[in-house]
Amino acid sequence: MLKRFLPNEHVKSIFDIQPTVLRKKGIKGIITDLDNTLVAWNVREATPEIIQWFKQMKEQDIKVTIISNNNQERVEIFSEPLDAPFVFSARKPLSRAFVSAAKEMRLPKDEVVVIGDQLLTDVLGGNFAGFYTILVVPIVETDGKITRFNRSIERRILSYMRKKGKISWEE
Ligand SMILES: [Mg+2]
Repeated sequence: MLKRFLPNEHVKSIFDIQPTVLRKKGIKGIITDLDNTLVAWNVREATPEIIQWFKQMKEQDIKVTIISNNNQERVEIFSEPLDAPFVFSARKPLSRAFVSAAKEMRLPKDEVVVIGDQLLTDVLGGNFAGFYTILVVPIVETDGKITRFNRSIERRILSYMRKKGKISWEE
């Protein structure tokens, strides 16, 4: 049961995910969360660093799709300078948005990674839909959307992972 919540990999930030490394693993597509994964949940627009990261992916021929549970306005405004497809109101952890994003990119599941900061939406949903999952540390601690209940479950799973030696950073 707990396995469903465990990511295949965990990194400190999205910028630790390098296109050349992904290519070597045969990865040609990314499905990424937005809030607290690419920018803090209350940052409206894509930052120069994020624009650069998307560009680097494109240069290595890696497709990126943003899928977010947030609303149309939020996701649309953010994605605009990135020239990347996006899905809003994605209803993660349900599989549908993950599966259709891979289909739209015309890639099989084993060539796509799912990236996000939440175990209960991004990781659970990505695992359930059959993708390789990468957890990032949330950019800011607070989140407009996450309930305290979700957070308390996350903390328990993270402390379990830390005990098992699956997490190497200090928080
Ligand atoms: Mg998030």
